[in-house]
Amino acid sequence: ATLPYDDGNIFARILRGELPAKTVYEDEHALAFHDINPQAPTHILVIPKGAYVSWDDFSARASDAEIAGFVRAVGKIARDLGLVEPGYRLLANVGPDSGQEVPHLHVHLFGGHGLGPMLV
Ligand code: 5GP
Repeated sequence: ATLPYDDGNIFARILRGELPAKTVYEDEHALAFHDINPQAPTHILVIPKGAYVSWDDFSARASDAEIAGFVRAVGKIARDLGLVEPGYRLLANVGPDSGQEVPHLHVHLFGGHGLGPMLV
């Protein structure tokens, strides 16, 4: 199952500055902010600035510069937030059956002590 891109999705609106977010990082390729309903001591969402529905869409269509910029941003955010030592986890839901709710690629960054076992 795939979702269509919808310019009115909540993360597109955050990117346009129409909705507030607790931003922790921004550069040419990526924006990162706190999840509104955190599932770990630190729970950040990292999104690309381009209009990509999911990891599947992004990995297929984005330029090498966008992909490299995004991947490096995720790593830098985790380092800058001090998450490497306690350890962290990355997750991206692709498609509604996986639990993807917002049709703009977002990588969940879960960090802090006591993450617990990965369930799936
Ligand atoms: P998904 O289920 O699509 O992988 O993840 C969507 C995530 O977005 C959820 O963890 C949810 O808590 C978060 N979220 C939904 N609406 C908002 C919002 O308006 N602001 C922020 N910061 N996070 C949101």
